[in-house]
Amino acid sequence: MEKVYYNGDANEQYLQSKKVAIIGYGSQGHAHAQNLRDSGIEVVVGLRPGRSWNQAEQDGFQVRTVREATREADAIMILLPDEKQPSVYKEEIEPELQPGNALVFAHGFNIHFNQIVPPQDVDVFLVAPKGPGHLVRRTYTEGAGVPALIAVYQDVTGEAKETALAYAKAIGAARAGVLETTFKEETETDLFGEQAVLCGGLTSLVKAGFETLVEAGYQPEVAYFECLHEMKLIVDLMYEGGLAWMRHSISDTAQWGDFISGPRIINDSVKAEMKKVLEDIQTGKFAKGWILENQANRPEFNAINRRENEHLIETVGRELRSMMPFVKAKQKEVVVTSAK
Ligand code: NDP
Ligand code: MG
Ligand code: MG
Repeated sequence: MEKVYYNGDANEQYLQSKKVAIIGYGSQGHAHAQNLRDSGIEVVVGLRPGRSWNQAEQDGFQVRTVREATREADAIMILLPDEKQPSVYKEEIEPELQPGNALVFAHGFNIHFNQIVPPQDVDVFLVAPKGPGHLVRRTYTEGAGVPALIAVYQDVTGEAKETALAYAKAIGAARAGVLETTFKEETETDLFGEQAVLCGGLTSLVKAGFETLVEAGYQPEVAYFECLHEMKLIVDLMYEGGLAWMRHSISDTAQWGDFISGPRIINDSVKAEMKKVLEDIQTGKFAKGWILENQANRPEFNAINRRENEHLIETVGRELRSMMPFVKAKQKEVVVTSAK
């Protein structure tokens, strides 16, 4: 097995003399900024005036424009949406970079697909938590952490990897485990995971199961509980003890059905399609489509998003969750998003 790094393998000294600019204060940004601060690292947040700016100030941070934050800092962590990074980088970050600075990412997309080309005299590395930002924060406050990948793209100081490990430790990731990878591997596996399994695969599986039951005349509410609500309970068991622990916990009837029917659903043709999805990621075809979609102001993204939010599973779900006070209801109204 590859080496997994933990707290004992990381030395926070590599960050302690440095000021870290967290650019962006969204899902990842607020978590990194707060975890670093709680770990004793000096943080400045870089933003444009608006909602996030006010929030970061309320949370007690020094907030500056992206330009000023970059100028003040030794390490610049870019936590803007991936599709917005290239223009902000070009206009506000690149002009302020000093030799020996560290340019840091949480996902390799823009470096790997050449949307950001950094100067040769700075360190470039990534620290990519394998989990959503609000969990990066919550687990940290609970004394735990979300695992992360680190990768070094450019090492001019000779300390890029040590600094990446120190950063991973400071956000709590080294409590859970840190793996070293490359920008290529992180980018391609992250895109594949979210498309084929975690987000795309899962939502399509849930919807197909729900629709099959509803089209056969079963109550949508029953179908919702069966195909969506119960998913979390099953996934929690897998998270705690792998497939075996989940299978130990369910009935033998359910386990037999899992063995016999699961491979009929996710069959060879599904796997063949997964390979094509992976190929589109590896060849840059997916990246190109997403970059162009943003340049066109997201016509397809917004159309699909609207249609998805009107799906019966969503309207039934909103209704049912409102009766479950223990489920913290998170309503997301459909907003038309723009690449600008
Ligand atoms: P979010 O969409 O949550 O963050 C957006 C932040 O960027 C907001 O604070 C927003 O501020 C700010 N912003 C947007 N445009 C500008 C601009 N022009 N100038 C200044 N600030 C701006 O991003 P994520 O946290 O989801 O993603 C950040 C990075 O982390 C990405 O590289 C992503 O791939 C990676 N990542 C994300 C994960 C996740 O869980 N979401 C998991 C692992 C990695 P405002 O309020 O002004 O719009
Ligand atoms: Mg991703
Ligand atoms: Mg059952």
